[in-house]
Amino acid sequence: MPRIAVQIGHVNSARWGPGATHEVETTTKIHPYLVAMLQKAGCQVETFGGDLPYGLTHDIAISLHCDAGTPEMTGYSLGFWEEMHPGSRELAAHVKAFYDVLGIRPYRENYTLGLHHYYGNSRWAPTTKFVLVECGFVSNLNERVWLQSHPQQVGEQIALGVLDYLNIKTKEESTMTSSSRTLGARGVLFEGHALIGKNGPLVEHAYLNVTGLDKTARVNVLVWGGGQRRQTKENTKNPPYVLKPSESIGIDLNGFGIAGPVTWRLWSDEVVLFSPDWRVSQ
Ligand SMILES: [Zn+2]
Repeated sequence: MPRIAVQIGHVNSARWGPGATHEVETTTKIHPYLVAMLQKAGCQVETFGGDLPYGLTHDIAISLHCDAGTPEMTGYSLGFWEEMHPGSRELAAHVKAFYDVLGIRPYRENYTLGLHHYYGNSRWAPTTKFVLVECGFVSNLNERVWLQSHPQQVGEQIALGVLDYLNIKTKEESTMTSSSRTLGARGVLFEGHALIGKNGPLVEHAYLNVTGLDKTARVNVLVWGGGQRRQTKENTKNPPYVLKPSESIGIDLNGFGIAGPVTWRLWSDEVVLFSPDWRVSQ
C-alpha cells in the first residue's frame, strides 16, 4: 500500500502562513478531493500543514500551493528537486499529463528558487518522490474563482496523475468531460489535452463549445494530434471565429482527420466561456 503525504502549504503556520489567505482558502477546498481519490484507490494518506517535521519517509509527497503575482498572470506550475529526490521529475510529468486536462495553461517548471528548492524537500528522505503543485494564480480573479468552484476536478486530476505514476489503474474518468470555464485575461493562451493520461484511453471524439459573453470576441483555435498540426477548417484567416455577445460555436476537433489523442490551444481577446467535451474509448 503506497504511503502518500499531502501538505497544504502555509496552513496553521506562524512562520509560513501570513499573506497566503487566498492561497490557503483555495488549497483547503482542493485537498479533500485529492485525498479521497487516493484513499479510494488503496493508498494510505497523511496530511500536513505549513510546518513540516524532519525525518519523513513517505513514498510520495505532494505539496499544494497557489501562485500570486499580477492580476493578469495565469497558469499552474510544478516544482521538484530531482537531485535531492530522484524520480520526482517523472512523477511531475504524470501529474502534468492529468492537470493539463483542466485547461489551465501550464506556466513554468521550477521557475523560482522557492518552487525548485522548496524547504519541504529537506523534510523527506531521498527515496520520497516530491512534487509541489502551484494550482494556479489566486491573484487572477478569474482563475481563483474557477479553482475555488471546481475543487473536485482539480484534486482528482492531481490524484489521477499520482495513481498513473504508481501504475494503479482506476475506473475513474476525468470529471472534466462537460464542465465549463471562463477565459479571463486578454490575449491569453489556454491549452488542453484530450488525452486521459499517458497510458489511458484514447479520445474517440473531441468537441469544444465556445460562447461569447459581454463583448465581441475573436477566438483562435489550433489543434494537433497524430503527429500532425492543423488549424480547423474555418481557421485559415486570423482571427477565424468572431463571436457576438452570447453567441455560441461548436468546434469539432476531430472533424479534420485527427484520430486518437488531441491537443488544442485556444486564444481569445475577450472573455469567453468554453466547455471541452470528449468521448473516450476504453
Ligand atoms: Zn505557497
